[in-house]
Amino acid sequence: MTIPLQMAQKDLEFSVTRNEQPRSAEERELILFDPGFGNFFTDHMVDICWSKKGGWHRPRVQPYGPIALDPAAAVLHYAQEIFEGMKAYRHADGSVWTFRPDANAARMQRSAKRLALPELPTDYFIESLRQLIAVDADWVPSGAEMSLYLRPFMFAKEAFLGVRPAEKVAYYLIASPAGAYFTGGVAPVNIWISQHLSRAGKGGTGAAKTGGNYASSLMAQAEAYENDCAQVLFLDSVEGKYVEELGGMNVVLVYKDGRIVTPKSDSILEGITRDSILQLARDRGLTVEHRPVTIEEWRNGVESGEITEMFACGTAAVVTPIAQLKADGYTIGNAESPAGELTMSLRQELTDIQYGRLPDRHGWMLRLDE
Ligand SMILES: *Cc1c(COP(=O)(O)O)cnc(C)c1O
Repeated sequence: MTIPLQMAQKDLEFSVTRNEQPRSAEERELILFDPGFGNFFTDHMVDICWSKKGGWHRPRVQPYGPIALDPAAAVLHYAQEIFEGMKAYRHADGSVWTFRPDANAARMQRSAKRLALPELPTDYFIESLRQLIAVDADWVPSGAEMSLYLRPFMFAKEAFLGVRPAEKVAYYLIASPAGAYFTGGVAPVNIWISQHLSRAGKGGTGAAKTGGNYASSLMAQAEAYENDCAQVLFLDSVEGKYVEELGGMNVVLVYKDGRIVTPKSDSILEGITRDSILQLARDRGLTVEHRPVTIEEWRNGVESGEITEMFACGTAAVVTPIAQLKADGYTIGNAESPAGELTMSLRQELTDIQYGRLPDRHGWMLRLDE
């Protein structure tokens, strides 16, 4: 079966090979009852090939399963890889939607540029989401705060050990049902400030969504766990003075006077959740400041009471309130702090838009199942 693609590139037709052994409806329902995060995958995946000579070609939907890779595939040696993270939401009427996919497509193009990978056109990216939902829509859960997490990724598959941008690349899309991130209600977390380990360096790949940034965050993450913290806050790698972000989430501070402040730096991954939350704050007439923020400003601000709320944000958990920051030698805030009021109300507004409970006044939602 071939589904024609409704877009300019007429030659990009997805071939669809159905999984002949999909999970049974009962198995699927059992998984969707309590999927957790990243544990289970749907019956199908999408892939599109790229070569220097042929460009993007052979888009297809096929059964989910292992990828055959040559042991010399460049990604295994030189980590030439990027990814995206987004969600499909089921609305009350049963329809399936995603949030700002054009922003994810554009960010994947920026990441691709930085990692010397080919840019996947936005139409191809969005069509890959539609194609996967066309065969796996039953995997989109309908429970509160549940979703189907979508994971597009791209890597260098050329079998060549010389160091240069690969001339053969693969784009894939897989999907994984996700439960509510906070099962017992949204709970503030403690964050470890890494004073010796950096996530990304000046001129490095910090602004790209690439696996290497995560690999370099893991040792600090382990340190966080040892200190009873859920996540790590990374500071700039040059002076250890400016706030960057967590391993996979951006940070936002709320000031007593209603200002919303978030760090700006060339090595921060610009989150779509943060951008959306800041827009909702502006819509409420709040002032948003996107500028360099020092850890000293944060510490003094909390101490003086000028900073009243702090939170992290990203697609997976949406908004996570921060109770306390801990570092070698000092702490910021109180581990017992409840979630901030504005934090929770912005979180509610954003999820209400995503789940179709509030009007989509910014045109952020795209229906995937039609
Ligand atoms: C993906 C990611 C984020 C959050 O981005 P969203 O688009 O909001 O999901 C923040 N920081 C890092 C390092 C990330 O990889």
